[in-house]
Amino acid sequence: MAEKGAHLTGTTFIKPSIFEVIAQESFASTVEPAFKKLLSFIASFNIERYGHLLRWTDEGYLIFNTFLQCHYFNKYSASFSEAFYGLKRITIIDSKVKCSLSNKQRNLSLMLSLLFPYIKSKLSQLSQKYEFEDIDGCIPQSKWQQLYHNCIIKGNMIIFTIYEFMVLYNYILYISGKSAYTSPLLRLLSITLTYTEPEPIISISSLLKKIKVNSFGVSDGIDIFQRMVTASLEFAAFFLQFLSWWTQEHYLVNLLSLPIPPPPKIPEIAKQYKGICPICHKALRIHTVLSVSGYVFCYQCILPVIRTNRKCPVTKYPAKEDDLIRLYLD
Ligand SMILES: [Zn+2]
Repeated sequence: MAEKGAHLTGTTFIKPSIFEVIAQESFASTVEPAFKKLLSFIASFNIERYGHLLRWTDEGYLIFNTFLQCHYFNKYSASFSEAFYGLKRITIIDSKVKCSLSNKQRNLSLMLSLLFPYIKSKLSQLSQKYEFEDIDGCIPQSKWQQLYHNCIIKGNMIIFTIYEFMVLYNYILYISGKSAYTSPLLRLLSITLTYTEPEPIISISSLLKKIKVNSFGVSDGIDIFQRMVTASLEFAAFFLQFLSWWTQEHYLVNLLSLPIPPPPKIPEIAKQYKGICPICHKALRIHTVLSVSGYVFCYQCILPVIRTNRKCPVTKYPAKEDDLIRLYLD
């Protein structure tokens, strides 16, 4: 690794391979689903009390990601996933490579790595919502609203299709050696990636020696604490990836080997809705069960309620359209 760090100033630097660049990007994209999965797992312990928090998972992740990336940008000049693959960000100004980022560049690249995925996810959610409304024939109240809906749907599609093409084009330039930048966003800021120099690690014996001669200072303590945080975050990331692989591989086997639990007791409120729809209080038409709560509704009654309130009208459990299941009783 030392020879990789030897060329960081001047006009050349060691470019990471395309595989490392793609691997760190795909690793970065797994952190958000893992965080959301963990949040819904925690909320599932008391869904009535904490269920409403699930509506704010995007914002929760933004806050978590801000703390995480701030730490990594300050300590390693790299995002969490880049540091995980032993990469860091450097500047290229007038085709000269500079070792460290300026404060402005660090802040801008931090903002971009936080806000870009957030805005992208919010826009695609909004566009999907308007698309569904269009399919259902919900006509917007005014012409301007209709125009706004169309702008969001079309704009989202056009912007991100162009962006994906730019990413692909950038990869081709990067592989052929015509571009030093690993992504279009980093190109905007004249930033690219290279390998980090290996860090000197304090061994336990030198640590004990320091304590013995009373030279163990606050900075050593902070350093050890930061290393522990980094190591545990990286371990947690590995563990979450392992867990998602494990549940995929062993889901069916586990279900078969588990003993059958007793059915849950029927709550009092469920008894009053026996055979009728809890919304219109009439006989059920097109039986549709909401999988998060187990209540059965008319399809026409439950669909608009789920779309506007995003929760079960009886239990208030958070729910989405995907949780509706048609029952074929007849
Ligand atoms: Zn109904």
